[in-house]
This record gives sequence, C-alpha cells and structure tokens, in this order.
Amino acid sequence: MARRVTIFGSTGSIGCNTVELIAAAPERFDVVALTGGQNVARLAEQARALSANLAVTAHEACYADLKAALAGSGIEVAAGQGALLEAAGRPADWVMSAIVGAAGLAPGLAALAHGTTLALANKESLVTAGPLLLATARAQGATVLPVDSEHSAIFQALIGEEIAAVERIIITASGGAFRDWPVEKLASATLAEASSHPNWAMGQRITIDSASLFNKAMELIETHEFFGVSPGQIEAVIHPESLIHALVGFRDGALMAHVGPPDMRHAIGFALNWPERRHLPVARLDLPAIGQLTFRPPDEARHPALRLAREVMETGGLAGAVFNGAKEAALDGFIHGRIGFLDMAHIVEHTLTKLTRDSHMSAEITLENVREADRLARNTAETAIVSRQG
Ligand code: NAD
Ligand code: MG
Repeated sequence: MARRVTIFGSTGSIGCNTVELIAAAPERFDVVALTGGQNVARLAEQARALSANLAVTAHEACYADLKAALAGSGIEVAAGQGALLEAAGRPADWVMSAIVGAAGLAPGLAALAHGTTLALANKESLVTAGPLLLATARAQGATVLPVDSEHSAIFQALIGEEIAAVERIIITASGGAFRDWPVEKLASATLAEASSHPNWAMGQRITIDSASLFNKAMELIETHEFFGVSPGQIEAVIHPESLIHALVGFRDGALMAHVGPPDMRHAIGFALNWPERRHLPVARLDLPAIGQLTFRPPDEARHPALRLAREVMETGGLAGAVFNGAKEAALDGFIHGRIGFLDMAHIVEHTLTKLTRDSHMSAEITLENVREADRLARNTAETAIVSRQG
C-alpha cells in the first residue's frame, strides 16, 4: 500500500530534497498535503508534479496567487496558520517537518497528536519544546525520526543498541564559512560571506547559524533532548571534511561512526524508507581518494554559542525556547544589517541572562508557555538590538 505523506516546508531546502525523493518513486507514495510560504510558483509546481490533494501557503495574502497557479488541477488550496494545522490533521502515515524556525513546532505537534510518524528536520521543535514533543509522541504511540544529519547518524548507530550502554555522543561540525578566518575579522563578516557554506547546500538561516556555530549549539541541545543523554556526555568536534556526521561511544570503548557524503538526501531518505533501507541517489565514498579525515576542538572563545547551549541544557525548562527565540531575533537583526556577526551571540547571552534572572524559565513546557517564552525572548533581544544600534 502506498505511504500517505505530507511535507511541511516543501519549498525549502529540506522540502525540495524530500519532494525529489518522493517524485523518484511515485508508486510508493500518496501525497496528502504540501505547505510553503511565499514561493507560490514552486509550491504549485510541486503540488502538480506529485498530484498532492492539498497545497497550503502559510501566508493568507498568497492565497489568490496559489489558487490561480493551481487552477484546473483539482488540487485543494488553503492559506494561513489555521490551514497548516488543519493539514497536519489530515490522515497520513508520514509527515516531514521542514519549516524553518519556531513556526515549525505547532504543525509537528498536531501531526504527532494524530499519531502520525514525524520526520523531524525542524530542530527548533526539540530545542524549544523537546519534552512536550516527545511526550505527545509517546501518548499517541507515534514515532519521531530525526532528520538532522548528525541525529539521523546517531539514530542509525544506535539501532540494536541499548541507550544505557552509551558513554558519549560526538557530533561533528564543519566549522562553517569562517572556520579558517582570523578572529579579528569576524566582527566585520558580511551577510554574503556568512551565507556561503563550505560543504552543505542549505537554507540561508541554517547556513548563517553554521558560521556562528549556533547551528551546532542547537544540535547539542537536540541530542540531549532526543536521546535523553546528559549534557556531559555530548561533545562537538570540528571536522572540516563533513564526512563523519556523528559518533556514538559505548561503555566498552567502541566508537561507531556514521560516514557519508554531505548530502541531506541520505538522512531524509533514511526517514522516508524507515524501517526499511532502500537505494538512495547519494554518492558512494571512495576512501582512498579522500585520503584523510581531520578533527580539531571547537574554539569556544571565538564562538560562545556552544557554551550558551551548555547553560541552556543545565537550566532546562523554557531556557531552550528563550535561547531559540533570542537567536532567531538576533539572526534577523544580522540578516537585515542592523547588527554585526559577533553581536548575535552577545544578544542571545544577554537575553538568556536577563530572562533567567527574572525567572521566566521554570514554567511547565506547554505550547502556550513556549510561545510566551519565545515572545519575551524576541522582545528582550529586540531591545538589545536597538540599544546596540543606537
Ligand atoms: P528553508 O529556509 O530552505 O525552507 C524553509 C521552509 O519553511 C520553506 O518551505 C518556507 O516556505 C517555510 N516557512 C518559513 N517560515 C515559515 C512560517 N513562518 N510558517 C510556515 N512555513 C514557513 O529551510 P531549510 O534549510 O530547508 O531548513 C528547514 C528546517 O530543517 C530548519 O529547521 C533547519 O534547521 C533544518 N535542517 C535543515 C538542513 C538543511 O540541509 N537545509 C539540515 C538539517 C536541519
Ligand atoms: Mg545538522
């Protein structure tokens, strides 16, 4: 029987790769819904190519354009946040969560509440509300499959293993655009420079987060939340070749590494085919041609993001939501040229310190409280951005 699938954020980088894999095996999938933002032309093209039942744009203002682009196709069209949640409730076997940012949380939760398997690219869901997301899945007997490359790698290394036998988990980082820059140059890094990744082709926001190591910081928290290992057991290491994605160390000293090309179609395809393994169109590594793999410790003085992630894991509660909200606001500030590259970490640290002191982080992790923490964090970060500009 064909697997019924829905993709949240189908027009993005992860979304397009997911569409490509589904389009290559049309007999295996029935596409229930595709969702996107303002790129209505791409959304309509994908919906037609995959014969989706429903196409949803997150923006009400884009409704008429999407409707026009799908005229005569028989594909249902909807717009707005309510329509996204409604799409999450349509019966499906597998849902890809690939919206970028905190906006991805609610649709993923809604899909899990219906018992649907959730392929989770949206790391912000675990950073802001990991315990809520996993409790929702458990209550419905639903499965969450990690799609971030490091977490897919850990998941795969753990197949057949006991989590209790895990001593440590190591996630790798390419080091991003500025890994070889002298630290004095970082303050004047431009948007264009921060938006080009040495190894991975990804959306702009995660690419900039890779340069600041905020992406790796989020992934430390994601590892802690998803696999339930303590912060002290999780490490990040710079591995410029991006061929080993993560390693799991067991109590007998064995280290199991997941090795593959930097191509998200592996992690997406693994989740799409799970629990089977099927052929995937990713390059096969030629080890003698690669020759060597290198590693070095991350420089936390240069990139405070990793230190901040450790503080967030120790604080727990709503600290992740505050961290993420502040990071998103600071990233917007950098993208819009309001603050410099290094200001992002200062603003996140300031926001975390201020909201911890005002004890805004101890409330229960519910969707409402996460949204409120996110809102407070963005406001606090915005005030800090304005004062830096002034
Ligand atoms: P992207 O910017 O390329 O695409 C984002 C998608 O989300 C688009 O379809 C966009 O229309 C939609 N979207 C954006 N804002 C929205 C909103 N407010 N409401 C509804 N829809 C909205 O992003 P991406 O690089 O594909 O990343 C998607 C997620 O996957 C992120 O959480 C990212 O951290 C994670 N991820 C991405 C990669 C990668 O290779 N790109 C790797 C690992 C994890
Ligand atoms: Mg990753």
